[in-house]
Amino acid sequence: MLQQRKIFIFAPIDETGECHRQLEAAGCSLVLGDASWRTPQGNSEDQMCKLAEGAFAMMGSSIRSSRITRKIMESAGPNLRIVAKFTVGVDDVDVDAANELGVMVTHAPTESNWGGVAEGTMAMMLALLKKLRERDQAMKAGGWRSPSLQGTYLGRRASDDYPGITVGIIGLGRIGRRLADLLAPWRVRLLACDPYVEPSRFILHDCRPVDLQTLLRESDVVSLHVTLTKETRRFFGAAEFALMKPSAVFINTSRGQVVDEAALVDTLKRDRIFAAALDVFEDEPLPKGAPLLGLGHKVLLSPHMVSSNSRSGLYPGMMWAMRSVLKVLEGEVPDNVFNTEVIPRWRERFGSRTVA
Ligand code: NAD
Repeated sequence: MLQQRKIFIFAPIDETGECHRQLEAAGCSLVLGDASWRTPQGNSEDQMCKLAEGAFAMMGSSIRSSRITRKIMESAGPNLRIVAKFTVGVDDVDVDAANELGVMVTHAPTESNWGGVAEGTMAMMLALLKKLRERDQAMKAGGWRSPSLQGTYLGRRASDDYPGITVGIIGLGRIGRRLADLLAPWRVRLLACDPYVEPSRFILHDCRPVDLQTLLRESDVVSLHVTLTKETRRFFGAAEFALMKPSAVFINTSRGQVVDEAALVDTLKRDRIFAAALDVFEDEPLPKGAPLLGLGHKVLLSPHMVSSNSRSGLYPGMMWAMRSVLKVLEGEVPDNVFNTEVIPRWRERFGSRTVA
């Protein structure tokens, strides 16, 4: 049954209550799902079909038990106008189905989120290259200096012609670009691979454009910043790791499904690369007993919260999603539509018609 202004929040994260209060003040009735920032598993598809019935909007952070499928969107009924994500990624929404159904999908590429990923990636890179964990552990175990604790100098030096290291960025979007800018004062050599951006972007961020194979062969650090798409799903596997230098480090803060995790584990076990830093995993939370947990200092792990900082994180993204939902209530197109191709159809269905 259609409830006026019903919103299904499948993964609520509103700890202060501010977002929910503003929606209720606008006459919305809220139905909350089980997923949360701490436990993103959430409801099953069948449960979500029930919870979504009659909703004009669905919104939330990441959800793992089920994607926002065609079946869930169809269960909401013909009045569903929007699926509004609090995050940059929309890989947990069936965007093709949303297009076919004429539903707008919005996302929230806030600087707090993507800038946070770039900063967190820098922290991971420095921890690996400067062996911060190893030095700390050695001292706490009663040790002192040792050649095995020597780190890597990053930048080129004019004084003795040390060339500096090469950092390869795969995906020169918001995060990749910010990472390039953060690295600029470190005086490293930057390579980037992104077949979808205009040439000037490489120049503006001082990166040499190269193909993937060249990047993998020449980089001392390989950092992944692509969107998860049909093309990039598991696109990084044994063949790609085999091209990397044995001394290189691999960083993935994009999506776990972009990488063949078993191939990564095998590569690390065989010392085919030096180390990896990972914020994202094929299966999240990483299951107990997962092989990655037994690799010691060869991996630096983070529980998919590299962009999470106090007074930052996803809060701005949630408020942006809320503003978008309030806009579509009034029949207006918000400013963060992911599937822009659906807009003409959406305007035909709902344009300038307010939800009473
Ligand atoms: P973005 O859309 O600005 O950039 C992604 C870039 O990847 C684009 O420039 C695109 O052209 C490029 N790309 C796509 N396919 C490629 C390929 N095959 N080879 C090379 N480049 C390719 O997105 P963004 O804001 O920079 O975010 C990137 C990804 O980071 C997101 O999609 C999301 O999955 C992930 N992310 C993770 C976290 C986290 O908490 N770990 C937080 C935010 C975003």
